[in-house]
Amino acid sequence: MDSLLLFLGIWAASYAAHLALYFGQGVILTAINRRHPERRIQPKRRGEDRARVEILASVKSLVVTSGCLAGGIFLPMQGITLWPPLELTWISGIGMFALTLLLYDTWFYWGHRLMHVRALYKHHFWHHRSVAPTVWSNYSDTLIDAFAMQSFYLVMPLILPIPPVVLVAARLWDHVNGQIGHSGFEYFADRTTRFPSPMVCVTFHDQHHEHFNYNFANYFSLWDRICGTLDPDYDRKVGEFEQIRQTR
Ligand SMILES: [Zn+2]
Ligand SMILES: [Zn+2]
Repeated sequence: MDSLLLFLGIWAASYAAHLALYFGQGVILTAINRRHPERRIQPKRRGEDRARVEILASVKSLVVTSGCLAGGIFLPMQGITLWPPLELTWISGIGMFALTLLLYDTWFYWGHRLMHVRALYKHHFWHHRSVAPTVWSNYSDTLIDAFAMQSFYLVMPLILPIPPVVLVAARLWDHVNGQIGHSGFEYFADRTTRFPSPMVCVTFHDQHHEHFNYNFANYFSLWDRICGTLDPDYDRKVGEFEQIRQTR
């Protein structure tokens, strides 16, 4: 009983933190975007018209996302792991954080490609109703879609000795990156985000929403480049935004 209450308490705190970050960052990014219309990635579309439905869907799906993180914190506390979490040091912290991001990108790429398979697409279609994504689109998912992607934060602490604070930091990084990545405005295009660099900018996931069959990964373009699913226009478009940035 005490354990159940503890789990529900962690879940509630996780949900409240997710909501605060979603709305807080969303409002800030919206204010910044308003001042930079020239940075809009799809100038002919107004994704903002869907803000209300996207926010409603997000408030629901964040219950799942925050629950996965809560489970990933709670289960190691109960000793339900292959290995106890590493003691937190600079080396274990930075090393496990980097490993978590790399593994999540791999999980996301292959899980995301699976969700595009005909039999599973019914769970992912909702996310693609946002053709021009906005700051509110990141969590606009069905509950099953949210679980497919976010269960990473539930499963990984069971098989890897990730210190809980590193798990939270990785989820926080994913949140910040994901909401910026859906913002529809480009601020990060430069030579570090196009070939031969594996890093990406906002245009990367925006093109996944616009063109559908490309750019499945999350943090890096590596898997898409290796598997031939990189949008053929990605590197050129990054170069174009780079020019805009240099002329201002
Ligand atoms: Zn997709
Ligand atoms: Zn998306």
